[in-house]
Amino acid sequence: MGIVKDIQADKEKESLNLFKSTQTIIKEALNKLGYSEEFFELLKEPIRMLTVRIPIQMDDGSVKVFTGYRSQHNDAVGPTKGGVRFHPEVNEDEVKALSIWMSLKCGIVNLPYGGGKGGIICDPREMSLKELERLSRGYVRAVSQIVGPTKDIPAPDVFTNSQIMAWMMDEYSRLREFDSPGFITGKPLVLGGSHGRETATARGVTICIEEAAKKKGITLAGARVVIQGFGNAGSFLAKFMHDAGAKVIGISDAYGALYDADGLDIDYLLDRRDSFGTVTTLFNSTITNKELLALDCDILVPAAISNQITAENAHQIKASIVVEAANGPTTIEATKILTERGVLLVPDVLASAGGVTVSYFEWVQNNQGYYWSEEEVTERLQKVMVDSFENTFQTALVHNVDMRLAAYMIGSRKMAEASRFRGWI
Ligand code: GLU
Repeated sequence: MGIVKDIQADKEKESLNLFKSTQTIIKEALNKLGYSEEFFELLKEPIRMLTVRIPIQMDDGSVKVFTGYRSQHNDAVGPTKGGVRFHPEVNEDEVKALSIWMSLKCGIVNLPYGGGKGGIICDPREMSLKELERLSRGYVRAVSQIVGPTKDIPAPDVFTNSQIMAWMMDEYSRLREFDSPGFITGKPLVLGGSHGRETATARGVTICIEEAAKKKGITLAGARVVIQGFGNAGSFLAKFMHDAGAKVIGISDAYGALYDADGLDIDYLLDRRDSFGTVTTLFNSTITNKELLALDCDILVPAAISNQITAENAHQIKASIVVEAANGPTTIEATKILTERGVLLVPDVLASAGGVTVSYFEWVQNNQGYYWSEEEVTERLQKVMVDSFENTFQTALVHNVDMRLAAYMIGSRKMAEASRFRGWI
Protein backbone atom coordinates (compact mmCIF):
# COMPACT_ATOMS: atom_id res chain seq x y z
CA MET A 1 0.00 0.00 0.00
CA GLY A 2 2.89 2.33 0.93
CA ILE A 3 4.48 1.83 -2.47
CA VAL A 4 1.19 2.50 -4.28
CA LYS A 5 0.79 5.75 -2.31
CA ASP A 6 4.37 6.78 -3.16
CA ILE A 7 3.78 6.19 -6.88
CA GLN A 8 0.57 8.22 -6.68
CA ALA A 9 2.34 11.09 -4.90
CA ASP A 10 5.20 11.04 -7.45
CA LYS A 11 2.71 11.10 -10.28
CA GLU A 12 0.87 14.06 -8.75
CA LYS A 13 4.15 15.96 -8.37
CA GLU A 14 5.07 15.18 -11.96
CA SER A 15 1.67 16.38 -13.22
CA LEU A 16 2.01 19.61 -11.26
CA ASN A 17 5.42 20.12 -12.88
CA LEU A 18 3.96 19.48 -16.34
CA PHE A 19 1.21 21.98 -15.64
CA LYS A 20 3.73 24.57 -14.42
CA SER A 21 6.09 24.09 -17.36
CA THR A 22 3.15 24.51 -19.78
CA GLN A 23 2.34 27.79 -18.03
CA THR A 24 5.99 28.87 -18.30
CA ILE A 25 6.05 28.31 -22.07
CA ILE A 26 2.69 30.06 -22.58
CA LYS A 27 4.04 33.05 -20.66
CA GLU A 28 7.17 33.09 -22.80
CA ALA A 29 5.09 32.79 -25.99
CA LEU A 30 2.77 35.66 -25.03
CA ASN A 31 5.75 37.84 -24.02
CA LYS A 32 7.44 37.21 -27.35
CA LEU A 33 4.26 38.27 -29.12
CA GLY A 34 3.96 41.42 -27.00
CA TYR A 35 0.68 40.55 -25.21
CA SER A 36 0.09 42.12 -21.80
CA GLU A 37 0.04 40.22 -18.49
CA GLU A 38 -3.80 40.05 -18.56
CA PHE A 39 -3.66 37.56 -21.42
CA PHE A 40 -1.45 35.27 -19.37
CA GLU A 41 -3.81 35.65 -16.40
CA LEU A 42 -6.65 34.44 -18.63
CA LEU A 43 -4.80 31.57 -20.28
CA LYS A 44 -2.74 30.20 -17.40
CA GLU A 45 -5.63 28.17 -15.89
CA PRO A 46 -8.71 26.41 -17.33
CA ILE A 47 -11.86 28.53 -17.23
CA ARG A 48 -13.82 25.61 -15.80
CA MET A 49 -12.95 22.41 -13.94
CA LEU A 50 -15.57 19.94 -12.79
CA THR A 51 -14.81 17.11 -10.37
CA VAL A 52 -17.40 14.37 -10.14
CA ARG A 53 -17.92 11.26 -7.99
CA ILE A 54 -19.52 8.37 -9.83
CA PRO A 55 -21.01 5.42 -7.89
CA ILE A 56 -20.89 2.24 -9.96
CA GLN A 57 -22.29 -1.16 -9.20
CA MET A 58 -19.55 -3.72 -9.77
CA ASP A 59 -20.25 -7.22 -11.10
CA ASP A 60 -19.88 -8.76 -7.62
CA GLY A 61 -22.72 -6.56 -6.33
CA SER A 62 -20.52 -4.12 -4.41
CA VAL A 63 -20.55 -0.38 -5.16
CA LYS A 64 -17.36 1.49 -5.98
CA VAL A 65 -17.21 5.28 -6.17
CA PHE A 66 -14.95 6.62 -8.93
CA THR A 67 -13.56 10.16 -9.24
CA GLY A 68 -13.71 11.86 -12.64
CA TYR A 69 -12.79 15.25 -14.07
CA ARG A 70 -13.65 17.48 -17.00
CA SER A 71 -11.49 20.53 -17.60
CA GLN A 72 -12.30 23.26 -20.13
CA HIS A 73 -9.35 25.50 -20.77
CA ASN A 74 -10.60 28.32 -22.99
CA ASP A 75 -13.69 28.67 -25.16
CA ALA A 76 -12.94 32.00 -26.87
CA VAL A 77 -12.27 30.31 -30.22
CA GLY A 78 -15.22 27.90 -30.05
CA PRO A 79 -16.55 24.88 -28.13
CA THR A 80 -13.91 22.99 -26.17
CA LYS A 81 -12.65 19.65 -27.43
CA GLY A 82 -10.55 16.82 -26.08
CA GLY A 83 -10.38 13.21 -24.98
CA VAL A 84 -11.35 11.35 -21.82
CA ARG A 85 -8.74 9.05 -20.32
CA PHE A 86 -9.37 6.09 -18.04
CA HIS A 87 -6.23 5.49 -15.99
CA PRO A 88 -5.31 4.77 -12.36
CA GLU A 89 -2.89 7.72 -12.27
CA VAL A 90 -5.27 10.38 -13.62
CA ASN A 91 -5.17 13.48 -11.39
CA GLU A 92 -6.45 17.05 -11.44
CA ASP A 93 -3.23 18.77 -12.52
CA GLU A 94 -2.69 16.30 -15.33
CA VAL A 95 -6.21 16.86 -16.69
CA LYS A 96 -5.73 20.63 -16.44
CA ALA A 97 -2.38 20.54 -18.28
CA LEU A 98 -3.85 18.23 -20.93
CA SER A 99 -6.76 20.61 -21.53
CA ILE A 100 -4.33 23.49 -22.09
CA TRP A 101 -2.43 21.33 -24.58
CA MET A 102 -5.69 20.69 -26.42
CA SER A 103 -6.24 24.45 -26.77
CA LEU A 104 -2.74 24.80 -28.18
CA LYS A 105 -3.15 21.83 -30.54
CA CYS A 106 -6.43 23.16 -31.89
CA GLY A 107 -4.85 26.58 -32.43
CA ILE A 108 -1.78 25.19 -34.15
CA VAL A 109 -3.76 23.15 -36.69
CA ASN A 110 -6.32 25.95 -36.89
CA LEU A 111 -9.51 24.18 -35.76
CA PRO A 112 -12.52 26.21 -34.52
CA TYR A 113 -12.18 24.82 -30.99
CA GLY A 114 -10.77 25.56 -27.57
CA GLY A 115 -9.24 22.79 -25.47
CA GLY A 116 -10.87 20.41 -23.02
CA LYS A 117 -9.93 17.15 -21.34
CA GLY A 118 -11.49 14.57 -19.08
CA GLY A 119 -10.35 11.66 -17.02
CA ILE A 120 -11.51 9.01 -14.58
CA ILE A 121 -9.28 7.43 -11.95
CA CYS A 122 -9.80 3.73 -12.70
CA ASP A 123 -7.95 0.74 -14.11
CA PRO A 124 -9.86 -0.52 -17.18
CA ARG A 125 -7.43 -3.47 -17.39
CA GLU A 126 -9.07 -4.83 -14.26
CA MET A 127 -12.71 -4.09 -15.12
CA SER A 128 -15.29 -6.11 -17.04
CA LEU A 129 -17.00 -4.70 -20.14
CA LYS A 130 -20.25 -4.27 -18.22
CA GLU A 131 -18.48 -2.34 -15.45
CA LEU A 132 -16.78 -0.14 -18.05
CA GLU A 133 -20.12 0.51 -19.73
CA ARG A 134 -21.72 1.56 -16.42
CA LEU A 135 -18.75 3.83 -15.67
CA SER A 136 -18.84 5.43 -19.13
CA ARG A 137 -22.56 6.12 -18.87
CA GLY A 138 -22.18 7.36 -15.27
CA TYR A 139 -19.49 9.81 -16.34
CA VAL A 140 -21.71 11.28 -19.07
CA ARG A 141 -24.58 11.73 -16.61
CA ALA A 142 -22.23 13.40 -14.14
CA VAL A 143 -20.75 15.93 -16.60
CA SER A 144 -23.82 16.34 -18.85
CA GLN A 145 -24.47 19.95 -17.76
CA ILE A 146 -21.22 21.26 -19.20
CA VAL A 147 -20.72 19.10 -22.32
CA GLY A 148 -22.58 18.96 -25.64
CA PRO A 149 -22.07 19.18 -29.42
CA THR A 150 -21.73 22.99 -29.33
CA LYS A 151 -20.22 23.24 -25.83
CA ASP A 152 -17.55 20.63 -25.20
CA ILE A 153 -16.97 17.55 -27.33
CA PRO A 154 -15.20 14.53 -25.77
CA ALA A 155 -13.14 11.90 -27.64
CA PRO A 156 -10.94 8.87 -26.98
CA ASP A 157 -7.65 9.12 -25.09
CA VAL A 158 -5.49 6.74 -23.04
CA PHE A 159 -7.36 3.42 -22.49
CA THR A 160 -10.64 4.62 -24.01
CA ASN A 161 -11.86 3.51 -27.44
CA SER A 162 -14.70 3.62 -29.97
CA GLN A 163 -16.89 1.26 -27.89
CA ILE A 164 -16.65 3.61 -24.91
CA MET A 165 -17.46 6.56 -27.19
CA ALA A 166 -20.53 4.66 -28.45
CA TRP A 167 -21.84 4.09 -24.90
CA MET A 168 -21.21 7.72 -24.03
CA MET A 169 -22.97 8.94 -27.18
CA ASP A 170 -25.94 6.65 -26.46
CA GLU A 171 -26.20 7.91 -22.87
CA TYR A 172 -26.06 11.55 -23.96
CA SER A 173 -28.69 10.95 -26.68
CA ARG A 174 -30.99 9.31 -24.12
CA LEU A 175 -30.57 12.22 -21.69
CA ARG A 176 -31.32 14.81 -24.37
CA GLU A 177 -33.98 12.67 -26.08
CA PHE A 178 -32.56 13.10 -29.56
CA ASP A 179 -29.80 11.38 -31.48
CA SER A 180 -26.60 13.38 -30.92
CA PRO A 181 -23.71 11.92 -32.90
CA GLY A 182 -21.90 15.30 -32.75
CA PHE A 183 -21.65 15.04 -28.96
CA ILE A 184 -18.52 12.90 -29.12
CA THR A 185 -15.91 11.84 -31.68
CA GLY A 186 -13.95 8.65 -32.20
CA LYS A 187 -17.20 6.68 -32.57
CA PRO A 188 -17.52 3.40 -34.51
CA LEU A 189 -18.17 3.96 -38.24
CA VAL A 190 -21.75 2.68 -38.04
CA LEU A 191 -22.61 5.30 -35.42
CA GLY A 192 -21.29 8.30 -37.33
CA GLY A 193 -17.57 7.79 -36.84
CA SER A 194 -15.14 8.96 -39.47
CA HIS A 195 -12.89 6.97 -41.72
CA GLY A 196 -9.30 7.35 -40.64
CA ARG A 197 -10.00 8.43 -37.03
CA GLU A 198 -8.39 5.40 -35.42
CA THR A 199 -5.12 5.85 -37.27
CA ALA A 200 -5.24 9.68 -37.36
CA THR A 201 -2.76 10.44 -34.57
CA ALA A 202 -0.18 8.09 -36.09
CA ARG A 203 -0.84 9.52 -39.58
CA GLY A 204 -0.28 13.03 -38.24
CA VAL A 205 2.99 11.95 -36.60
CA THR A 206 4.03 10.24 -39.86
CA ILE A 207 3.42 13.44 -41.83
CA CYS A 208 5.51 15.42 -39.30
CA ILE A 209 8.31 12.84 -39.62
CA GLU A 210 8.19 13.13 -43.43
CA GLU A 211 8.36 16.92 -43.29
CA ALA A 212 11.12 16.93 -40.66
CA ALA A 213 13.11 14.39 -42.70
CA LYS A 214 12.89 16.66 -45.75
CA LYS A 215 14.30 19.56 -43.70
CA LYS A 216 17.15 17.37 -42.48
CA GLY A 217 17.84 15.80 -45.88
CA ILE A 218 17.04 12.29 -44.61
CA THR A 219 15.24 9.75 -46.81
CA LEU A 220 12.67 7.69 -44.95
CA ALA A 221 13.42 4.52 -46.86
CA GLY A 222 16.18 2.84 -44.88
CA ALA A 223 16.10 5.39 -42.02
CA ARG A 224 16.46 3.87 -38.54
CA VAL A 225 13.46 4.63 -36.33
CA VAL A 226 12.93 4.04 -32.60
CA ILE A 227 9.46 4.27 -31.11
CA GLN A 228 8.84 4.39 -27.37
CA GLY A 229 5.31 3.11 -26.69
CA PHE A 230 3.12 0.66 -28.57
CA GLY A 231 -0.35 2.06 -27.83
CA ASN A 232 -2.71 3.59 -30.40
CA ALA A 233 -0.17 6.12 -31.72
CA GLY A 234 3.00 4.03 -31.39
CA SER A 235 1.71 0.81 -32.92
CA PHE A 236 0.09 2.35 -36.01
CA LEU A 237 3.12 4.57 -36.42
CA ALA A 238 5.43 1.53 -36.40
CA LYS A 239 3.28 0.09 -39.19
CA PHE A 240 3.35 3.31 -41.26
CA MET A 241 7.13 3.64 -40.84
CA HIS A 242 7.62 0.00 -41.78
CA ASP A 243 5.39 0.46 -44.85
CA ALA A 244 7.38 3.57 -45.85
CA GLY A 245 10.52 1.42 -45.97
CA ALA A 246 12.04 2.72 -42.73
CA LYS A 247 13.75 0.26 -40.38
CA VAL A 248 12.01 0.21 -36.99
CA ILE A 249 14.91 -1.00 -34.84
CA GLY A 250 13.37 -0.44 -31.39
CA ILE A 251 9.94 -0.37 -29.75
CA SER A 252 8.76 -0.51 -26.17
CA ASP A 253 5.73 -0.74 -23.91
CA ALA A 254 5.22 -0.15 -20.19
CA TYR A 255 7.00 -3.41 -19.35
CA GLY A 256 10.17 -3.31 -21.47
CA ALA A 257 11.73 -2.73 -24.88
CA LEU A 258 12.70 -4.77 -27.94
CA TYR A 259 15.67 -4.04 -30.18
CA ASP A 260 16.94 -5.47 -33.45
CA ALA A 261 19.58 -3.58 -35.46
CA ASP A 262 18.25 -5.21 -38.66
CA GLY A 263 14.69 -4.00 -38.04
CA LEU A 264 11.90 -5.62 -36.01
CA ASP A 265 9.12 -7.71 -37.58
CA ILE A 266 6.42 -5.10 -37.04
CA ASP A 267 3.53 -7.08 -38.56
CA TYR A 268 4.26 -9.95 -36.18
CA LEU A 269 4.44 -7.63 -33.16
CA LEU A 270 1.18 -5.92 -34.13
CA ASP A 271 -0.45 -9.29 -34.39
CA ARG A 272 0.69 -10.28 -30.89
CA ARG A 273 -0.02 -6.95 -29.18
CA ASP A 274 -2.95 -6.90 -26.71
CA SER A 275 -5.64 -4.19 -26.69
CA PHE A 276 -3.68 -2.13 -24.13
CA GLY A 277 -0.52 -2.12 -26.25
CA THR A 278 1.44 -4.76 -24.35
CA VAL A 279 3.73 -6.98 -26.40
CA THR A 280 7.19 -7.11 -24.81
CA THR A 281 6.08 -9.47 -22.03
CA LEU A 282 5.89 -12.19 -24.70
CA PHE A 283 9.63 -11.97 -25.24
CA ASN A 284 12.69 -11.90 -23.08
CA SER A 285 13.04 -8.13 -23.11
CA THR A 286 16.31 -7.22 -24.78
CA ILE A 287 16.88 -3.69 -23.46
CA THR A 288 15.47 -1.21 -20.95
CA ASN A 289 13.33 1.80 -21.85
CA LYS A 290 16.23 4.12 -20.96
CA GLU A 291 18.60 2.26 -23.30
CA LEU A 292 15.97 2.40 -26.01
CA LEU A 293 16.00 6.21 -26.02
CA ALA A 294 19.79 6.31 -26.41
CA LEU A 295 19.89 3.88 -29.36
CA ASP A 296 21.86 4.90 -32.43
CA CYS A 297 19.07 5.90 -34.84
CA ASP A 298 17.93 8.71 -37.17
CA ILE A 299 14.42 9.32 -35.85
CA LEU A 300 13.23 8.94 -32.27
CA VAL A 301 9.52 9.03 -31.43
CA PRO A 302 8.55 9.13 -27.75
CA ALA A 303 4.95 7.87 -27.97
CA ALA A 304 4.39 6.74 -24.39
CA ILE A 305 4.39 8.93 -21.30
CA SER A 306 5.71 12.31 -20.13
CA ASN A 307 9.16 13.32 -18.86
CA GLN A 308 11.17 10.71 -20.76
CA ILE A 309 13.86 12.98 -22.21
CA THR A 310 15.32 15.10 -19.41
CA ALA A 311 18.50 17.09 -18.72
CA GLU A 312 19.99 13.78 -17.56
CA ASN A 313 19.69 11.82 -20.81
CA ALA A 314 19.28 14.54 -23.48
CA HIS A 315 23.02 14.38 -24.24
CA GLN A 316 22.75 10.65 -24.94
CA ILE A 317 20.08 11.01 -27.63
CA LYS A 318 21.64 10.10 -30.98
CA ALA A 319 18.68 10.76 -33.29
CA SER A 320 18.78 13.94 -35.37
CA ILE A 321 14.97 14.15 -35.42
CA VAL A 322 12.76 13.73 -32.34
CA VAL A 323 9.02 13.76 -32.95
CA GLU A 324 6.86 13.82 -29.83
CA ALA A 325 3.79 11.61 -30.24
CA ALA A 326 3.21 11.49 -26.47
CA ASN A 327 2.17 14.46 -24.34
CA GLY A 328 5.11 16.20 -22.66
CA PRO A 329 7.84 13.57 -23.18
CA THR A 330 10.66 16.16 -23.23
CA THR A 331 11.31 18.63 -20.40
CA ILE A 332 12.04 22.33 -20.98
CA GLU A 333 15.75 21.82 -20.12
CA ALA A 334 16.03 18.84 -22.45
CA THR A 335 14.35 20.81 -25.25
CA LYS A 336 17.10 23.44 -24.89
CA ILE A 337 19.88 20.84 -24.90
CA LEU A 338 18.52 19.03 -27.96
CA THR A 339 17.95 22.28 -29.88
CA GLU A 340 21.48 23.48 -29.08
CA ARG A 341 22.80 20.16 -30.36
CA GLY A 342 21.00 20.75 -33.67
CA VAL A 343 18.34 18.07 -33.16
CA LEU A 344 15.08 18.95 -34.92
CA LEU A 345 12.41 18.50 -32.25
CA VAL A 346 8.80 18.45 -33.41
CA PRO A 347 6.72 19.25 -30.30
CA ASP A 348 3.76 17.23 -29.01
CA VAL A 349 1.24 20.01 -29.55
CA LEU A 350 1.95 19.85 -33.28
CA ALA A 351 2.98 16.22 -33.83
CA SER A 352 0.02 14.66 -32.02
CA ALA A 353 -2.64 16.97 -33.49
CA GLY A 354 -3.71 14.50 -36.22
CA GLY A 355 -6.20 12.84 -33.86
CA VAL A 356 -8.13 15.96 -32.99
CA THR A 357 -7.98 17.08 -36.63
CA VAL A 358 -9.83 13.98 -37.82
CA SER A 359 -12.13 14.33 -34.79
CA TYR A 360 -13.00 17.74 -36.18
CA PHE A 361 -13.69 16.15 -39.57
CA GLU A 362 -15.94 13.62 -37.81
CA TRP A 363 -17.89 16.40 -36.05
CA VAL A 364 -18.26 18.33 -39.34
CA GLN A 365 -19.60 15.18 -41.03
CA ASN A 366 -22.04 14.61 -38.12
CA ASN A 367 -23.24 18.21 -38.33
CA GLN A 368 -23.83 18.08 -42.07
CA GLY A 369 -25.08 14.48 -42.05
CA TYR A 370 -22.96 13.72 -45.08
CA TYR A 371 -20.00 11.36 -44.88
CA TRP A 372 -16.62 11.51 -46.60
CA SER A 373 -14.56 8.73 -48.15
CA GLU A 374 -11.32 7.56 -46.59
CA GLU A 375 -9.36 9.28 -49.39
CA GLU A 376 -11.04 12.61 -48.67
CA VAL A 377 -10.16 12.37 -44.97
CA THR A 378 -6.55 11.39 -45.66
CA GLU A 379 -6.08 14.15 -48.20
CA ARG A 380 -7.50 16.84 -45.91
CA LEU A 381 -5.43 15.61 -42.95
CA GLN A 382 -2.30 15.68 -45.10
CA LYS A 383 -2.92 19.30 -46.03
CA VAL A 384 -3.65 20.43 -42.47
CA MET A 385 -0.54 18.74 -41.05
CA VAL A 386 1.86 19.86 -43.80
CA ASP A 387 0.63 23.48 -43.58
CA SER A 388 0.82 23.47 -39.77
CA PHE A 389 4.31 21.97 -39.78
CA GLU A 390 5.53 24.57 -42.26
CA ASN A 391 3.88 27.42 -40.36
CA THR A 392 5.55 26.30 -37.11
CA PHE A 393 8.92 25.76 -38.82
CA GLN A 394 8.84 29.23 -40.40
CA THR A 395 7.68 30.89 -37.14
CA ALA A 396 10.65 29.24 -35.39
CA LEU A 397 13.02 30.56 -38.05
CA VAL A 398 11.62 34.09 -38.11
CA HIS A 399 11.64 34.48 -34.31
CA ASN A 400 14.78 32.43 -33.81
CA VAL A 401 13.11 30.12 -31.29
CA ASP A 402 12.72 26.34 -31.02
CA MET A 403 9.75 24.57 -32.62
CA ARG A 404 8.02 24.15 -29.26
CA LEU A 405 7.99 27.85 -28.47
CA ALA A 406 6.99 28.60 -32.07
CA ALA A 407 4.03 26.22 -31.79
CA TYR A 408 2.99 27.74 -28.44
CA MET A 409 3.18 31.19 -30.03
CA ILE A 410 0.81 30.15 -32.83
CA GLY A 411 -1.63 28.45 -30.43
CA SER A 412 -1.57 31.21 -27.81
CA ARG A 413 -1.97 33.97 -30.37
CA LYS A 414 -5.20 32.44 -31.67
CA MET A 415 -6.72 32.28 -28.17
CA ALA A 416 -5.50 35.77 -27.31
CA GLU A 417 -6.90 37.28 -30.50
CA ALA A 418 -10.26 35.52 -30.10
CA SER A 419 -10.50 36.74 -26.49
CA ARG A 420 -9.61 40.29 -27.56
CA PHE A 421 -12.19 40.40 -30.37
CA ARG A 422 -14.85 39.09 -27.98
CA GLY A 423 -14.07 42.05 -25.77
CA TRP A 424 -12.88 39.93 -22.84
CA ILE A 425 -9.58 41.82 -22.60
N1 GLU B 1 -7.22 12.52 -27.11
C1 GLU B 1 -6.73 13.00 -28.35
C2 GLU B 1 -5.73 14.11 -28.14
O1 GLU B 1 -5.20 14.24 -27.07
C3 GLU B 1 -7.84 13.37 -29.30
C4 GLU B 1 -8.73 14.47 -28.85
C5 GLU B 1 -9.92 14.65 -29.78
O2 GLU B 1 -9.98 13.95 -30.77
O3 GLU B 1 -10.74 15.50 -29.46
O4 GLU B 1 -5.38 14.83 -29.03
